Amino acid sequence: MRRLLLKNFVHGPLTEAAPAPDDAALAELASRVDRAARRRLGRTLAIREVDAGSCNGCELEILALGNVLYDLERFGLRFVASPRHADVLLVTGPVTRNMREALERTYQATPDPKWVVAVGGCARDGGVYAASPVCVGGVSAVVPVDLHIPGCPPTPLELLKGLIALLEGVSVT
Ligand code: SF4
Repeated sequence: MRRLLLKNFVHGPLTEAAPAPDDAALAELASRVDRAARRRLGRTLAIREVDAGSCNGCELEILALGNVLYDLERFGLRFVASPRHADVLLVTGPVTRNMREALERTYQATPDPKWVVAVGGCARDGGVYAASPVCVGGVSAVVPVDLHIPGCPPTPLELLKGLIALLEGVSVT
C-alpha cells in the first residue's frame, strides 16, 4: 500500500484532467433559461429529477448543474424535492417495470402547467437497455414527453440548451 501511494505521488494521476467549463457560455445559457422561465411562469424554474432506471450517467450531468463547479442556482434554476413544487420533470433512463408506477404518480402529482423532458438516449426508446425484460421502454411509453434531449449522457451545456428550447419553443444550436 505504501509503495502504491509513493508511486502515485511520484507519477501523479493517470487520468486526464477534466475540461474546464465554458463559464461565459454557461452563464449566457443559464440567464436565457431564467429569463424565459420568468416570462412563461412569472418566476424561476423548478426542476424535479426522476431516475426511471438509468445507469446514473445522465444523473451525474444533471446534478452537475447544481454543483459547486456550475452552481446554476445562482441563475434561478432550482432542483426541488417534491413534484408538487416542480415545473419540469427531467426523466432519465429507460423506464423499468419497478419505476413505472413511481413515474406515473410523480407525473400526476406535478401541477399544471408542467413539462416532461426525456434526458439521454435511454429515455427516448430504452437505448442500450431496450431489449431487457425489465425495461418498459422510453419515457413516452409511460407519460407524455414534451422534449427529448439526446446524448449518452448529454452535457450540462446541452441540458441548458434543451431547457431553453422547451421554454422558448424554439430549437437552439
Ligand atoms: S443515455 Fe447513456 S448515460 Fe444516460 S442512462 Fe442511458 S446509458 Fe446511461
